[in-house]
Formats: sequence, C-alpha cells, structure tokens
Amino acid sequence: MILATDIDFDRDGKQVSAVRVPMQRDGGADGALLVPIAVIRNGDGPTLLITAGNHGDEYEGQVAAAAFVRSLDPAAIRGRVIIAPALNLAAATAGRRTSPIDGGNLNRSFPGDALGGPTAKIAAFVDAQLLPRADLVIDLHSGGTVFDYVCCLFASEHPDADVRRRTRQAIDAFGAPWCLTKPFRDDETTMLGSAARRGVPYLSTELRGMGTVGAEALKLAESGIHGLLSALGILPKKSNVTPAAPRWLRFRDGSLFPVAPEDGVFESRCALGQEVEAGDLCGLVHVVERPDRAPIEIRFRDSGVVVGLRHIARVAAGDDLAHVAQAGPEVAA
Ligand SMILES: [Zn+2]
Repeated sequence: MILATDIDFDRDGKQVSAVRVPMQRDGGADGALLVPIAVIRNGDGPTLLITAGNHGDEYEGQVAAAAFVRSLDPAAIRGRVIIAPALNLAAATAGRRTSPIDGGNLNRSFPGDALGGPTAKIAAFVDAQLLPRADLVIDLHSGGTVFDYVCCLFASEHPDADVRRRTRQAIDAFGAPWCLTKPFRDDETTMLGSAARRGVPYLSTELRGMGTVGAEALKLAESGIHGLLSALGILPKKSNVTPAAPRWLRFRDGSLFPVAPEDGVFESRCALGQEVEAGDLCGLVHVVERPDRAPIEIRFRDSGVVVGLRHIARVAAGDDLAHVAQAGPEVAA
C-alpha cells in the first residue's frame, strides 16, 4: 500500500504538505499521522533528500531541515529538494527516540513494512518512494537527549565505485570536522542499509545533542547542506573556498564501549573530543543507595578519540557511557 499524499514529486514550485500514515487511536477513529514533507523543484536535475526526526529527540536536524523548507526558493534552484524534517512524527512531537504509538525505532525499521505499524509504514514509504527519487541522502541525527556527540558525518564504503565516489564528493562538500566510516553492510535495518541496497549515496550526521539545539550544530547543518546543494548543482556555488578536509575515524571492529556495570549516577571524567589511552579513567558510577561503597571506576578499553559522551547522569546497568573512535581510512574517491 502506498501512503496517501497530495504531494506531486514532479511538479515545479514549492509544495509543503504531509504524508498520511494511517493510525488508530482512541477518540480518533480511522485517523492518520500527518508526516510533514516538502518538495521544492525547478525542472529536471538532481534530487537531494534531507531527512530529520528519524529519532524524535534529536532536535538540531529538525530545526535545520525545516529552515531549508522555508528558505529554499524554487526559482533559485535547478532540480529538486525533498525535505522530511520530522520523519518519525509521533516520536518527534513526543521528544522521544522511538514512537510512543508503536514503540518503533525508525532507524531500526528499514526497509519497513507497508502493512505494519506506523513506524514500519514510514520506513516503507521512505524506502519505496523517497530513496529511489534521490541522488543523495543527508539524514540528520545527533546525540539525542542522552548523549553529547561531536559534530561529524557518518558514511560507509559502498562496494560500487560510482556510489563510493559520489559519497566521497558529498563528504568533501559538507565540510564536517570529523567523518566516521562504517564498514559496508547491506543487511542493516537502518536507513543507511536501505540506501545501500538501492545504491543511493547516503550520509548521516551527529550534531551534538543533550536535548538541545546549539549554534555550532545549526551552523554546520546549514553550511553542510548548502555545500551538498552546490556540489549537486542544485544551487550555485556560494564561494570557491573548499571546506577543510575532515579527520577520518572509525570504530574498531568488536570495540567495547564503556558501559555502566550497574545502576547508578555517572560522573564523567573525560571530555568530548579528548584523545584517550586504554586504561584511562572514563568516569565514575556512584551507587547512591550505598553511600558506604566507593564509586565504581570506569576505564576505557580502547585508545582513541571520545566522539560521544553520556550526558544524562542517571544510568542503568548496560547503558553506553562513551563512544571512542580510532583513526580510520578515508572513503576512497
Ligand atoms: Zn539518531
């Protein structure tokens, strides 16, 4: 089943509307979630797909993507920009990572199920209707409420040389200070997995987090997306200045991030962006109901750069406390 929308993807001009995702709720009869979507088009040309709100508590991308809905003038572009700024709408409006309707984590729901719950239906719509129309996807994530993350790109090494080359061009055009490469997998249930299976170049971001919308994140999202629009030829180049090359990182295979060994309160003893050695102190977990017990020392197992750090202090056993990445290879041009 294709979800209902009055958007015509091939019409010139600016359309701001919604995709209707059927949803049952008490008092709503046969209702729908109105997932916002905008199409800005001017003639034939390349298509950039911008998505945010894939995880609902990652606010920076939602704000940045919506700003492009308002600011992009169809007369000033060539080609098409499709923007879905609050993709898992119920999660976005609830300020939660997952949907309060069906518990769905959209970025673990691909390629989706047109007959499934609302989150699975949204994934199926993206997979079947948006990705095939895109020449490049930028999916805006951040550390959410719980984590703080360096401003960075995530990309993977697609086995197809042309997809890889276009991915690398996009990385160079975005101008993020860091780029984390992930090993290619075409069995992932993420949007990256769906894009990889369809041979569409895909980048995602981390843009800080902590449940905030900070200036650093917005500035990078804005300049980065401008860079992508220029690289695709959708917008004219703003300047001839090439952004600085990113620092390339990856997560070591089988990397064991520090986790909370038991419930407690996490006190960080490291900083975002810090270089650490294996054995260095990551932080302490305080078991507050046992004041006689010394806090538990959490040490890094891997050396590298702290790219993500838990922000919310209260932790449950097994919660990630920090993400550490190592120097990695560039995505081949
Ligand atoms: Zn996310």
